[in-house]
Amino acid sequence: MKFATCLNCMDGRVQLPVISWIKNNYKVDFVDMITEAGMNGFLADSNNDISDILKKTDVSLARAGSMNIIFIVGHHNCLGNPVEEKKHKEQVNIAVEKIKTSKPKANVIGLWVSDEWKVEKII
Ligand SMILES: [Zn+2]
Repeated sequence: MKFATCLNCMDGRVQLPVISWIKNNYKVDFVDMITEAGMNGFLADSNNDISDILKKTDVSLARAGSMNIIFIVGHHNCLGNPVEEKKHKEQVNIAVEKIKTSKPKANVIGLWVSDEWKVEKII
């Protein structure tokens, strides 16, 4: 069994599209989902304590079958992070760089979920 790790919004509308996209594009069987309201904005804001998220990420990466891949998601119409698309994507980029620094052995990928709930890789 192969696993990926995903840092996603808690929004119920993005869970299934993100899981399906990751399973189809990265040949994993399961996606460990770590959520926060507006995850990309939460990670990008240097005022936030992200240690709890990093701890959960470590648990996921340490499991047998982990592919050492971390996805970070931003999405359209985010209630927990109500900023425009351009800003969302900037936050995904910042979050990816931050997580890469913290987990240098992992492959860190940034995703955007559009107004049609389609998933695209942005970094
Ligand atoms: Zn959201």
